[in-house]
Amino acid sequence: MNNKLKIIISILISVGLFTSLTSFYVPAENLQIRLFAHLKVSSLQLNTVSGKYMVLADGNSVGQNALESVFKLTLKGDSIQLSQDDKLLGNFIYIKFVGNGNEEIKVKLINPDRKARIYENNLSFSVSEEYIRIINDVVLDNYIGGVTEAEAGSRSNLEFYKVQAILARTFALTHINKHVAEGFSLCDQVHCQAYYGKPKDLTIFKAIEETKGKVVVDENLNLIVAAFHSNSGGQTANSEDVWGSRTSYLRSVSDSFSIKMPNAKWERRMLTDDWLTYLKLKHNVPTELAGAKSEALNFKQDQRKIFLECNNSRVPLKNIRSDLQLKSTFFSISEINKDSVLFKGRGYGHGLGMCQEGAMRMSKSGYNYIQILNFYYKNIQLIDLHKLSFFKDE
Ligand SMILES: [Zn+2]
Repeated sequence: MNNKLKIIISILISVGLFTSLTSFYVPAENLQIRLFAHLKVSSLQLNTVSGKYMVLADGNSVGQNALESVFKLTLKGDSIQLSQDDKLLGNFIYIKFVGNGNEEIKVKLINPDRKARIYENNLSFSVSEEYIRIINDVVLDNYIGGVTEAEAGSRSNLEFYKVQAILARTFALTHINKHVAEGFSLCDQVHCQAYYGKPKDLTIFKAIEETKGKVVVDENLNLIVAAFHSNSGGQTANSEDVWGSRTSYLRSVSDSFSIKMPNAKWERRMLTDDWLTYLKLKHNVPTELAGAKSEALNFKQDQRKIFLECNNSRVPLKNIRSDLQLKSTFFSISEINKDSVLFKGRGYGHGLGMCQEGAMRMSKSGYNYIQILNFYYKNIQLIDLHKLSFFKDE
């Protein structure tokens, strides 16, 4: 098939797609990520690792960032004091390090003291809520590389990194306006997606390159909510059972890949009195009645359930999980002696979408990223947003 024909066919496939995706899609493909979003930063140090930066302070160039230069930024009231190699350049409201396209810069927080990290592309600094706000203006796929390492860990394999990269890209595009009211796209914490700068594992760069532009859409060609969790315990969950709303792609699947992995099982002991008191006070379960008490002390889940049913009370397992800070809702309860009960649990996390440990196991067993995504998400397709952008330009 020639290229022109391929393009025409792709246009026909994606006609319905356009209206649903345009609200998410950002042609420029640069994101503004707030760095160290959880910290109150009052001083830091920068030096170029590669490439060349122009340093702009309140709109004026204050020089080039030579490779050997060290810049220091210190909070001074409503402005930031900038110095280069201990030479004071002045106090400014807005400082920007603008790169030439493929540059990297080392960021070392001094107060609070944190290990240095390497970031790609541009950085800007301003004072917000009495501390220095750091924004990384970063190319989408550079950001996706950082997220892939932060979320998947290092020393994994190519197919698993590809899965994590596609999910990170899909998430980024669906949540691009999450912090828009605060003046940036996403923060670098798990609130959005964990992002700690340029990845160290070279396999990640290959995964990003080989999945360039790919995102996951549902049967109506809308970007999916790219939920994932650590371990399903052998069965993933339905979205309506966790979030209350049904989706066509977050469907419960039997997941044998997860069961021998590190987070497949957990246990928690609890005093019987504490457990019964909790049910009585928090959920009005009549635990003074023999029937209800017996059900509360002997609860089994072979398949995932939504409620603990005692007498006529139905207690949502997700509430028990969050109240008692349990690893999952997929647990059984039994009496181990007259004073204590044992929670025997399976899995770690909400159970929706991809199970990371199961996906890792699949990738090591020879499954590719497309097979892994189709195992954990139902009725989905992978599409390429770059092609959409190309059509849009035409
Ligand atoms: Zn956030």
